[in-house]
Amino acid sequence: MSASTQPQNSATSDNERIIFAPADKIAKVSFEFFPPKTPAMEQKLWSTIEHLRPLAPCFVSVTYGAGGGTQAQTLETVKRIRNKTDLEPAAHLTCVGASRGEIDDVARAYWDAGIRHIVALRGDPPKTDGRYHPHPDGYAYASDLVAGLKRVANFKVSVAAYPEVHPQADSAAADLDNLKRKLDAGAHQAITQFFFNPDDYLRFLDRARAAGISQPIIPGILPITNFERTVEFAKMCGAKVPDWLAALFNDLNDEPVARGFVAAATAVEQCRYLQTRGVEEFHFYTLNRYELTAAICRMLRTPGLDRVTEAKKNTQDEARL
Ligand SMILES: Cc1cc2nc3c(=O)[nH]c(=O)nc-3n(C[C@H](O)[C@H](O)[C@H](O)COP(=O)(O)OP(=O)(O)OC[C@H]3O[C@@H](n4cnc5c(N)ncnc54)[C@H](O)[C@@H]3O)c2cc1C
Repeated sequence: MSASTQPQNSATSDNERIIFAPADKIAKVSFEFFPPKTPAMEQKLWSTIEHLRPLAPCFVSVTYGAGGGTQAQTLETVKRIRNKTDLEPAAHLTCVGASRGEIDDVARAYWDAGIRHIVALRGDPPKTDGRYHPHPDGYAYASDLVAGLKRVANFKVSVAAYPEVHPQADSAAADLDNLKRKLDAGAHQAITQFFFNPDDYLRFLDRARAAGISQPIIPGILPITNFERTVEFAKMCGAKVPDWLAALFNDLNDEPVARGFVAAATAVEQCRYLQTRGVEEFHFYTLNRYELTAAICRMLRTPGLDRVTEAKKNTQDEARL
């Protein structure tokens, strides 16, 4: 574009402003990881944590494998995060396949290890008949688990919420009642299942507020690394994949760079749209990869990014003196 064709009055005097970020919005963020199964995966997780740590997340959570299979790895991973970093770790805990006593013992082990934040979930059954059958002496639903955890110790508890309704819920209203039960049982906040249409989340938030829920409901954001797998996963958890999103990723299987740009741009757009409607906090499903999440957080401006920028500026100022 030549100088004469540049739009008039478009220059900003605020040269310090990061290009895409609204100057008055700082995003609070948190990150989800899964426990590694092999030494190579462990290395990858720690590299991811090191790259995302400077972004100053409010907390980082570690999942509990489907069927409750990763109990030991989840505990080890959150303990290591607590002992080796300044991050607040949150341990996911599910009701699957365990008695109340066994789950309470796991909770006590977390408390004794200094872990104060639990993401309390019902969990999904191991693949048998696909239906959920609670352990005969177990917690039947996440709301029962929240109450049980609160009896063990004064944990900070997060729970799951479903903007597009949990697939096994009797109705949207029943699902919302369930969310309220979990929060009334003592949960501090909810984190949502991922979604791709931000209006689904905003409508859900409106319904939750109308139902008297005042606690934070943090949107869960999934940066897309593999579109086909995302579609499969979305089917299982009842999240819609809009046609426009499929069109954006069409034919990008062998184009990792373009795919990464599209994934970052769509997630940033989604978060920015939510920011303009007052949402200030985002939870990222990182899948133990840092690249996309770090790029998205930079563009949203996180408190940590400001600190990094400030530190660089101070170093430059000192060099000039
Ligand atoms: C942020 C987040 C993190 C997750 N992390 C994990 C993880 O680490 N490990 C894992 O295995 N899974 C995880 N999941 C998946 C989760 O376990 C599944 O979605 C599971 O099917 C439901 O868990 P919940 O805690 O939402 O269950 P609940 O809140 O108990 O709800 C389960 C279903 O039962 C219904 N329900 C609840 N109470 C009643 C009642 N009294 N009567 C009738 N129906 C009722 C609800 O409407 C819903 O349909 C996560 C999901 C999210 C959103």
